[in-house]
Amino acid sequence: MSNTVAAYAALSAGAPLVPHTIELRDVGPLDVRIDIRFAGICHSDIHTVRDEWGPANYPVVPGHEITGVVAAVGSAVTRFAVGDRVGVGCLVDSCGECASCVRGEEQYCRNGNVQTYNAVGKDGRITQGGYAQSVVVTERFVCRIPDGLALDVAAPLLCAGITTYAPLRRWGAGPGKRVAVVGLGGLGHMAVKLARAMGADVTVLSQTLKKREDGLALGATAYYATEDPATFGALAGAFDLILNTVSAPLDLDAYLSLLAVDGVLAGVGAPAEPMTLHAGSLLFQRRTLAGSIIGGLRETQEMLDFCAAHGLGAQVEVIGVEQVNEAYERVLASDVRYRFVIDTAGLDRGRSNG
Ligand code: NAP
Ligand code: ZN
Repeated sequence: MSNTVAAYAALSAGAPLVPHTIELRDVGPLDVRIDIRFAGICHSDIHTVRDEWGPANYPVVPGHEITGVVAAVGSAVTRFAVGDRVGVGCLVDSCGECASCVRGEEQYCRNGNVQTYNAVGKDGRITQGGYAQSVVVTERFVCRIPDGLALDVAAPLLCAGITTYAPLRRWGAGPGKRVAVVGLGGLGHMAVKLARAMGADVTVLSQTLKKREDGLALGATAYYATEDPATFGALAGAFDLILNTVSAPLDLDAYLSLLAVDGVLAGVGAPAEPMTLHAGSLLFQRRTLAGSIIGGLRETQEMLDFCAAHGLGAQVEVIGVEQVNEAYERVLASDVRYRFVIDTAGLDRGRSNG
C-alpha cells in the first residue's frame, strides 16, 4: 500500500482545483487508513480555497464529508477492522483532555482541535482532506456508517448532517416546536429532513419559490420566499427556532422579528463578512441569537444512527472529480440539489492514466 495517493487540490487562492498527489503518514498504532469512496462538497471548502476565511495553507486538498472502507488498522486499534464502512467529518484530532473533549465536544476543544484539511496536524504536517484516494485518521475520529445507509448519501451527513442535527437537538426541535430553516442548500436540506424526523413543524425560508416543491417533499409544511417583503410581515413572531444556514450575511433584525417570545435564531452559516443588529430585536421578546459549529464524535455517531433509523440520507448529485470546479460554481449560484458528492473512483483512473 503506497503512501503516495492521488488527490485534487487548490494550489493558490481562488485557483481552480487540479490533480495533485499527497503523501499519507504511515499507519500508527492508533490509526485507521481509509480508502475513500465519496467526498461531499461543502460550501466551507469553497470559503477556504478562496481565502475567504484568511490565508489558507496551499496546496489545499479540501473535503470533510468523507465515507469509505477501512484498508488498514494500527496495532492498538480496537473499534475498527479492515473492510468496515466508515466516515470522517471535519475533525481529525483534539487534545482529548480538556473539559470539552471529556464531554465529547471535541469541536470546542480548549487547546485547539485539528481540522480535517488546511490545519496543522500533531505531526506538524498540513492536514489534507477527502478529495483524495485515501486518508489516515486516528481511530477516535472515525465514525461507523450504519448498515442501510449507502456511502454516497451518508457522506454529507459527516458535516451538513451533524452541523444541523446538533443545534436542532440543543434548542429542542421536536413535537410542538415551530422551526424555520433559512437557505435550502446542503445544510438547509438536511436541517429540513432532520427537524421533520424529530417531529417539529418545519418552514423553509428560501430566497425564491424555485425550490418550493423540493422543500415540501423534504418534509416542510410551509415554504416562503424571502425576496418577497410580505413574507416578513406574514410570519412575524411565528417561530420557536430559526436555523440560519446561509453562506452570506443576512439582515438579522428581519429574521429575529420572526421569533416568538424566547425564540432562538441559531446561526451555522459562516459568511466572511460581519453582521449587525439592533439591541431591540433581542430585548423586546427576550430572544436569543446563538451559533453552533459541527458536532462532537459522540453526537456525530448518534446522528448517523438516527439517520439510519429514520431512513434519512442526503439528497445528492454524484459527480466525477474532474467536475469539481463546475460544481463549485453551481454551489455559489445556489444551484445545488442538494449536495454534490465526488465519486473518488475517478482519481484511480486519473492515476493509471498517468
Ligand atoms: P450551500 O449549499 O451553498 O447553501 C447555502 C444556501 O444559502 C443556498 O443554497 C441559498 O439557499 C442560501 N443563500 C446563498 N446566498 C444567499 C444570499 N446572498 N442571501 C440569502 N440566502 C443565500 O452551502 P452549505 O454547504 O449548506 O453551507 C452553508 C454555510 O454554512 C456556509 O457558510 C458554510 O461555510 C457554513 N458551514 C458551517 C458549518 C458549521 O459548523 N457552523 C458547517 C458547515 C458549513 P436558497 O437558494 O434556498 O436561498
Ligand atoms: Zn462542511
